[in-house]
Amino acid sequence: MATINDNYLKLKAGYLFPEIARRVNAFAAANPEANIIRLGIGDVTEPLPEACRTAMIKAVEEMGDRATFQGYGPEQGYAWLREAIARHDFQARGCDIDASEIFISDGSKCDCGNILDIFGANNTIAVTDPVYPVYVDTNVMAGHTGEANDRGEYGGLVYLPISAENGFTAEIPSQKVDLIYLCFPNNPTGATASRAHLQAWVDYAKTHGSIIFFDAAYEAFITNSDLPHSIYEIEGARDCAIEFRSFSKNAGFTGTRCALTVVPKTLMGKAADGSEVEVWKLWNRRQSTKFNGVSYIVQRGAEAVYSPAGQAQINALVSFYMENARIIREQLTAAGFQVYGGVDAPYAWVQTPHGLTSWDFFDKLLHGCNVVGTPGSGFGAAGEGYFRISAFNSRANVDEAMKRITSKFKAD
Ligand SMILES: *Cc1c(COP(=O)(O)O)cnc(C)c1O
Repeated sequence: MATINDNYLKLKAGYLFPEIARRVNAFAAANPEANIIRLGIGDVTEPLPEACRTAMIKAVEEMGDRATFQGYGPEQGYAWLREAIARHDFQARGCDIDASEIFISDGSKCDCGNILDIFGANNTIAVTDPVYPVYVDTNVMAGHTGEANDRGEYGGLVYLPISAENGFTAEIPSQKVDLIYLCFPNNPTGATASRAHLQAWVDYAKTHGSIIFFDAAYEAFITNSDLPHSIYEIEGARDCAIEFRSFSKNAGFTGTRCALTVVPKTLMGKAADGSEVEVWKLWNRRQSTKFNGVSYIVQRGAEAVYSPAGQAQINALVSFYMENARIIREQLTAAGFQVYGGVDAPYAWVQTPHGLTSWDFFDKLLHGCNVVGTPGSGFGAAGEGYFRISAFNSRANVDEAMKRITSKFKAD
């Protein structure tokens, strides 16, 4: 019999979202009249910007004409899209990033996992706790960890706890780690990183020869003009960081699929014989071999994000969600909750009241208010006692959910 990749057996059985669905479905079956509002899963709710739709419709028409038809495109993405990204997202913010260092893909989630293809099996890997589960699970699948303990922590990973005490930014470790995952603005905590914090990480990485995987999926939600949007705004980051970005959250592309990864040509890794190798060359080789590019139609849609109309429309989208976040933050604070995040990120990270566990609070909110959120403990052991509320919803749903929660918890 053919053998399997046994590392998959180490995975915790996709516990968080299936367990939420199980509890919500059981409640809905027992209470068919309940109007349940879901502020749990981090998916967008507003439709695609008009500029993107118009560009995609035009691209569909081009595909129907022999003169403008497109077959396989470049595996790295079309130059016109990579150049627009380099100019608007990086060079305009003073980042020394060239279009040739940008790789278009069908998602940041995919790239975060795929990037492990080009790194060795013996790296020491650090993640924050709580954390976006994709970083951990892809390392488990790749065989970079041992088994999980009863707290759900995998052997071999270095967990950096983040909490209110450290402003949800990890202490720079005293030991040497080779690969570090950072996500700012953060999912799930909504926390941001100052320039000084990122500079400390870059200095650490340069000292130890480490590489930072910087997930900037939520950079468009930054409202504080002092905060960096890209790791490449930090001196020295070209030599130690890969950045992941996505059109999913800023432009509503979660179902359309388009993202990008930046690999600077000055970033080096070490081969078994001790020689230094350009990481860019390996990623380019990997993508050329295992990936055939994002559809022409979708890349034209993404390009339209950078048109004047597209910029106005995505700014309006982001402002809409951030107004939801403001309402959530202010209403919950007024009801006596301790609320973090929700200022530069579409997530509020709420301390559970009266020392309730994350799951007990989940049940209380579901049964008492018919509102669904995400238990913080699902993102890691240090998320216990917290709860994530997403701003991705209609204004009517956010208003109604906040009305229910404040009236219930003010009375308690
Ligand atoms: C939503 C999200 C992404 C984007 O993933 P896509 O595959 O591009 O849709 C990346 N990182 C984090 C932390 C996210 O929450």
